[in-house]
Amino acid sequence: MPQTNKPTTKSIKHFSVKELCQTLQISALDIGALTQSEFPLKIPADFLAQIEIGNPLDPLLKQVLPVLAETNQVPGFSLDPVGDLNNNPTPSLIHKYHGRVLLIASPKCDIHCRYCFRRHFPYEQQINQRHWHKALGLINQDESIHEVILSGGDPMSLSEAALVTLIEKIEQIPHIKTLRIHSRTPVVAPSKAPETLFIEWAKRSRLNKVLVVHCNHANELSGQTAQLFQQYRLAGFQLLNQTVLLKEVNDNSDVLIDLSHALFNQGILPYYLHQLDKVQGASHFEVSDLQALELHENMRQKLPGYLVPKLVREIEGQPYKTPL
Ligand code: SF4
Repeated sequence: MPQTNKPTTKSIKHFSVKELCQTLQISALDIGALTQSEFPLKIPADFLAQIEIGNPLDPLLKQVLPVLAETNQVPGFSLDPVGDLNNNPTPSLIHKYHGRVLLIASPKCDIHCRYCFRRHFPYEQQINQRHWHKALGLINQDESIHEVILSGGDPMSLSEAALVTLIEKIEQIPHIKTLRIHSRTPVVAPSKAPETLFIEWAKRSRLNKVLVVHCNHANELSGQTAQLFQQYRLAGFQLLNQTVLLKEVNDNSDVLIDLSHALFNQGILPYYLHQLDKVQGASHFEVSDLQALELHENMRQKLPGYLVPKLVREIEGQPYKTPL
């Protein structure tokens, strides 16, 4: 990685698009950067450190830089592509699948991924202590629910104390057997990810613990992520990964195969390879189903079965992720 004057602090420095392009020594004009967006640029220092200076095609940069193509109105791309708002019995709770519920634990993320299917989701109306209290009450009353999935935003963008308080409340519900956390923070901002209190909780918890991280390219992983994942594993977490298939980021079988190996080297099993959710503003990331199937077949030919993620798409109204 070239030497740079990139920030190295734990905090998230808020860059403008112009500042980011200057830091990375690329031309905002040449790359079609969008300087204003309702879903603004947000990039943590750890993730920035993994981007190659002077490379406008860097696969990590592509995931975070707002570009003019986001303003294209493309038929079939909508504000709520997976119907979250239609399965929302109370603010902060999403109940789509049998036996498990999704609790929106945080209104924010440590990064803004341009392809995010929740980029238009009204988080600010969904999260506060009162909503959590009501959501936990509903979970308590429904004994068919055995797994709570914390999602967001990103649950690990909460303060460590707030996260542990919430999961201790979930643990007190007797019929909950499994806690699953979906988070991109340990990959994109490992220096901000919860450690001490969270790991102490995990070591003493009666719950099955699953952490599903979100990594799209092997370049996102580092020595720092390896160390963090080792701690989580030793604390009893099963580590899985989900990847979104993204044009000009990872739509190449060598890149996807490298990713599976890199994840496994850090103790993580590839779980899902998602086709893009068709959210407005992300059409330029779309990979055709035909290409996705070819890529997946190439992975199958070159990887052991346990390193081949399931190729799926989320379809509104379906009781599970739909295999392609
Ligand atoms: S971390 Fe996840 S929820 Fe947050 S912007 Fe990225 S894809 Fe969306």
